[in-house]
Amino acid sequence: MSRRREGKCFLVGAGPGDLGLVTLRAKELLEQADVIVYDALANPEMLGWARLDAEIIFAGKRAGEKTLSQDEINALLVEKSRLGKNVIRLKGGDPFVFGRGGEEAEALAAAGIDFEIVPGITSAIAAPAYAGIPVTHRDQNSQVTFFTGHEDPAKSESAIDFDALAKLGGTQVMLMGVDRLAAITREMLAHGSRKNLPVALVRLGTVGQQKTIVGTLETIAERASAAGFEAPAVAIFGDVVSLRKDLNWFENRPLFGKRIVVTRTRKQASGLSSQLRALGADVIQLPTIRIEPPSDLREFAELVQDAHSYDWIVFTSPNGVDAFFEIFFKLYDDAREIGAAKIAAIGPATAQRVKDFHLHVDLQPEEFVAEAVVKEFEKGGGVENLRILIARAEKARDLLPKQLSGMGAIVDEAFAYQTVPETRDVTGAHRRFSTEGADLITFTSSSTVENFLDLKLPWPAGMKVASIGPITSATARERGLSVDVEAKRHDVAGLIEAIRKFYGA
Ligand code: SAH
Repeated sequence: MSRRREGKCFLVGAGPGDLGLVTLRAKELLEQADVIVYDALANPEMLGWARLDAEIIFAGKRAGEKTLSQDEINALLVEKSRLGKNVIRLKGGDPFVFGRGGEEAEALAAAGIDFEIVPGITSAIAAPAYAGIPVTHRDQNSQVTFFTGHEDPAKSESAIDFDALAKLGGTQVMLMGVDRLAAITREMLAHGSRKNLPVALVRLGTVGQQKTIVGTLETIAERASAAGFEAPAVAIFGDVVSLRKDLNWFENRPLFGKRIVVTRTRKQASGLSSQLRALGADVIQLPTIRIEPPSDLREFAELVQDAHSYDWIVFTSPNGVDAFFEIFFKLYDDAREIGAAKIAAIGPATAQRVKDFHLHVDLQPEEFVAEAVVKEFEKGGGVENLRILIARAEKARDLLPKQLSGMGAIVDEAFAYQTVPETRDVTGAHRRFSTEGADLITFTSSSTVENFLDLKLPWPAGMKVASIGPITSATARERGLSVDVEAKRHDVAGLIEAIRKFYGA
């Protein structure tokens, strides 16, 4: 036990912002990391992949907080690695493209620390791509130059070779330095670059807040200051910029520019979030609930063990299905142990989960609410004297067991899991929501409404409410909210359809 584990430091590219542009290697390392030191440019949503006990250190600049100097960051990486830890240094874009990753690697090498580099998709190509600008094009240019507009203040003369840039032509992508755009474009013009050279600025490329402005070398600085355009942005100089008028795919998506809050559990949120993102929305994942084992796991396990003795097993949510089979397959190693019990599932996601375990769903009501199951059972000749096991959440509505009992069934409730309020905020979503606001908040259950309001975050002016169905809407209204959008189909697909319709998309 006393054998000292050698620490290792991974310099990992976090990509330009879009979570889909993170490498598999980066995700895998984040899931295992002991320590994560991350930059402002790395999408903090990724921290949700980390272990709950991982030590997470912010090494960027944030108003009112002390900023770590580069030397301090280098020392921190060395120190944590020496403790035998798996240290992830998470950097925006690619770690070796203008990110000082080279210096960090040198510090690790000098200290004799084992390290690895995980390249990332750099904003230098991703931001133009998401603005509809190919950095090369057979008809336009055959070279690309990356340069930085932000220089080491210690350098005595400008490190940007404006003469060379003017002669080189091709596409030139500038990182940093948008705040110095006026001086830079002036120098470029003075050194012979064309006045009408197309220029684009892309701010926060690849995420829902992306903003692009286009001009020429002569006009862009003025347009940027008139638009109050701020860092972080890349500037693209070159004829390829003109291709954007036909290739602007990302900013034309139906929900582009809408900031939408997703309040379900982190695990469940991914489907809703990624579909909203795919439609162009800027999604804030702010989980308000978390799934935990039921308070009486033993009782649940006993009911699962006896599942075969029931005529029906009713599942009301995918979580219930997961919790049920997790226990079931701990107790049994043969799916046939479920016996002759038939299976009912409320909602397509629940049914799908059952099918994922290669079991047939015998009853799936058209509507996704408990009332519909009762109706279906009635249609099928009633439930008199049938033994029914309902696997569901603790503290769920008890309409279903009551009605089925009322119809003469012998009902047992198996509390498969409990939903607890999520108050932790590993990804900084609370701060982001409080400072940036949102256009729309989605509620997918009554508990998401309750727990969101209990967080007491400020309600952004004009934020609209979208609910997955009438029960969730009723809870929202009880708590004083007005519901602007309600899904007709009470599942994620239905909610997304309703949101699209609401925005006329
Ligand atoms: N290693 C990073 C660059 C770090 S330097 C990379 O490979 O992308 C920081 C600069 O990167 C910013 O000033 C800005 O010019 C650019 N940048 C990073 N992320 C960006 C994004 N999402 N959109 C536009 N520019 C970005």
